[in-house]
Amino acid sequence: TVSTADLIAWIRKFRDAVQEHRDELTALDSAIGDADHGSNMARGLDAVVAKLDPPPSSAPDLFKVVGMTLVSSVGGASGPLYGTFFLRMGPVLTGEMDAAALGAALRAGAEGVVARGRAEPGDKTMIDAQMPALSAWDDAVTAGKGVAEAAAAAATAAAAGRDDTEPLVARKGRASYLGERSAGHIDPGAASSALLFRALSDALA
Ligand code: ADP
Ligand code: MG
Ligand code: MG
Repeated sequence: TVSTADLIAWIRKFRDAVQEHRDELTALDSAIGDADHGSNMARGLDAVVAKLDPPPSSAPDLFKVVGMTLVSSVGGASGPLYGTFFLRMGPVLTGEMDAAALGAALRAGAEGVVARGRAEPGDKTMIDAQMPALSAWDDAVTAGKGVAEAAAAAATAAAAGRDDTEPLVARKGRASYLGERSAGHIDPGAASSALLFRALSDALA
């Protein structure tokens, strides 16, 4: 099972991955948006990590501070969306954190993103990386796998979902202003969500 410390490690690894890929995320956003996704996420996650010392003592406390900090420190669409993801995860994690519970929390997070942003699968958004990751997670749980294997499968699926956004025409967010011209580029939010699931897998390995 997963500890609060494991989840704190996840958030730190997500910050590190976003910092490492910051210019890449911004380059993706410069093709179909306003070239700020890398800096938005890096700024938000730096603000988050600054609030992790002393470390939150429970998963609900952790995700509340992560979510609220992202909502308040990121100006772009991604701040409220990722903020909602974490804010919805926390309340689900009050009991034992096994693979099924963590999968349910991640699903609550992604459903929060959908509720807030109204994107459907195939609209070329972060949802297109998150939803395949959740399906892979559920499949792993059904097959009796533990958290490490579920998270590894989810990370692989999120990366495939990210890549699958390339041919899509954007129907939500700034990229949708480009219409057909948004096709041929990977969605920046899908790329950051692939990093989110990769970081989770690394933290739980
Ligand atoms: P902004 O577009 O305000 O500059 P960012 O560049 O930080 O914000 O984030 C853009 C990303 O946010 C997109 O690549 C997309 O994945 C995601 N996004 C935008 N609108 C939505 C939405 N309605 N639902 C889900 N994700 C969205
Ligand atoms: Mg942008
Ligand atoms: Mg912007």
